[in-house]
Amino acid sequence: MIGSRFSYIGRILALLQVLPGILAWGKEGHYAICKIAEGFLNEDAATTVKALLPDYAKGDLAAVCSWADEIRHNFHWRWSGPLHYVDTPDFRCNYEYCRDCHDLSGNKDRCVTGAIFNYSMQLMTYHESKSTSEWKYNLTEALMFLSHFIGDVHQPLHVGFTGDAGGNTIIVRWYRRKTNLHHVWDDMIIDSALKTFYNSDRAIMIQALQRNITDGWSSDIASWGNCSSEYLVCPDLYASESINLACKFAYRNATPGSTLSDDYFLSRLPVVEKRLAQSGVRLAATLNRLFASKPLPSHFTTGDGSNASRGWLRIKGSVQGPTLI
Ligand SMILES: [Zn+2]
Repeated sequence: MIGSRFSYIGRILALLQVLPGILAWGKEGHYAICKIAEGFLNEDAATTVKALLPDYAKGDLAAVCSWADEIRHNFHWRWSGPLHYVDTPDFRCNYEYCRDCHDLSGNKDRCVTGAIFNYSMQLMTYHESKSTSEWKYNLTEALMFLSHFIGDVHQPLHVGFTGDAGGNTIIVRWYRRKTNLHHVWDDMIIDSALKTFYNSDRAIMIQALQRNITDGWSSDIASWGNCSSEYLVCPDLYASESINLACKFAYRNATPGSTLSDDYFLSRLPVVEKRLAQSGVRLAATLNRLFASKPLPSHFTTGDGSNASRGWLRIKGSVQGPTLI
């Protein structure tokens, strides 16, 4: 009896390993992204972020950057699961919003890029809501979701292939440990780097990333933060970069059953570090634009012009009932 119960638990655990999108950049990755972002917020955005954060965050955005992962398996929040990733057709190595952004049942706009558009649009109502005291959306949740999803869309395997659920079904060994490829990119590369190079101290790792941004990548910061032309948010660009990196680096030499060790670790770590840095810089640039206290010119848009009609803005309200802060 006990044996069969254990094997039942074992089966559940095995199943959890292969469920699509079950993981995200781990806690360390999201924390680093939001810490980096904090350093690039302008005064307006920093004030607005502080006003929207829940009390328990004590004014620290990084403290709530894994919130979306912590709640996603609660019954009440299960609808948010598909918002952490977007799957693309196998071996095409490209991403298209209209083709790819849907959940497993085919509901359109329910993916990480759709969620970034949605919560950005909600956050744009901040100044208007503040002046009229009419809050259409829960902007605390919107901020916590957006900060998390801008991180997720930069994890290459969050824009991976449909057939392997973004690497979740590719079982590999990370050195001696059995795991899956998605988990390697969420956690293992970062955890190994922490242990090997940063004395298991995440503050030192974050300082090293910040130093890289201001030294090595200083000339890239402006271009990372910009969206092309007049867009306020550009998650489609980040998703296209991610699937490209997934094909070039994540899937390469990581076939099922392979053992990934020094060669893979040392050649992929720079990719992971750059994606963490980019998402931090881009999260800050996005919040700076969304919370600009001056009214935005009317031609500014949150996407390719069709976003207003995407209708996703109201989907959550209709499913969950409008939430107010
Ligand atoms: Zn996530």
